[in-house]
Amino acid sequence: MILVTGGAGYIGSHVVRDLADRGYSVLVIDNLTTGHIEAVDKRAIFLQGDAGDPKLLDGIFKTYSIQAVMHFAASCLVGESVVNPLKYYQNNVVETVRLLQKINQYQIKHFIFSSTCATYGIPNQSTIDEKLPTHPINPYGKSKLMIETMLNSISDRDDFNFIALRYFNVAGAHPSGEIGEDHTPETHLIPNILRHLQGKSACIEIHGNDYATPDGTCIRDYIHVTDLSTGHILALEFLLKNQHKKTAEIFNLGNERGVSVLEMIHLCEQVTNIKATVNIQPRRKGDPPRLVASSKKVREALGWMPKFDIHTMIQTAWNWHRNYPDGYK
Ligand code: UDP
Repeated sequence: MILVTGGAGYIGSHVVRDLADRGYSVLVIDNLTTGHIEAVDKRAIFLQGDAGDPKLLDGIFKTYSIQAVMHFAASCLVGESVVNPLKYYQNNVVETVRLLQKINQYQIKHFIFSSTCATYGIPNQSTIDEKLPTHPINPYGKSKLMIETMLNSISDRDDFNFIALRYFNVAGAHPSGEIGEDHTPETHLIPNILRHLQGKSACIEIHGNDYATPDGTCIRDYIHVTDLSTGHILALEFLLKNQHKKTAEIFNLGNERGVSVLEMIHLCEQVTNIKATVNIQPRRKGDPPRLVASSKKVREALGWMPKFDIHTMIQTAWNWHRNYPDGYK
């Protein structure tokens, strides 16, 4: 049985579905503050609660034989983390300490962690590899880096292995069109553009066009949620196959291609054949100008290879937004 925290969220729900498709038994815990029960695959067992709730975790670890934990539950908005940092240290750091205490107590061996490219801060090179120093510039990135640090510290325990996956910008929806991205409020670029193109907002706001990038808008590296999910399953299989090998690894997951905010708006216009109205706003605090991955390490170590290009990311997201114009509601 694989325990997935945050399995009702955008990324967690895709991984749960892919795990179930591959025949894994899955137990999901999610407190449903941002997740959606409708997103949880029916083949998984679902328990509502916090990822670090000691009573809930005692019950789970005593009842089920948990082979590995995949930890997605977190607050994950850069802008919000600047405005409300303690929420991020509480929900991300404190809850994870509590989860790791139980993982230690029950001697769970394998842990896969959702980390982020926000740990790098403002990198001084154009593509980011895992050796680059980490200087996060927002509380979200800082909270995730603290957890990586904790994982490294406890991985000295002989039988604890972990893989932390530093996501770049996750996008798109399940190819079935049945699960996708539904945040309230929505702050991410692609859903905001698509919602605007659906007529749900008067314009798409660009948070700053005075960055030192070719068109002045921020550049990000977008990765399809299914490719990201495959990365987690490869990480899980690596840990399960190499039980007796010490693993304490950090891998980037990105497509190695930078797309600016303006370029993304144009790509969405092409895919949907609808013209956007753009409104330039001041910079959003905490945004680095350019984040583009090198994913060489994960390609070589796990054989991971992204399959979805930027058009397919937008197309699958657009299918989801049209199927579920009001999200899961
Ligand atoms: N962004 C924007 N308008 C929006 C949403 C996002 O200009 O409505 C910009 C944001 O400032 C950042 C990029 O798009 O430069 C990606 O932001 P997102 O929130 O999608 O992901 P993040 O990089 O913060 O994790």
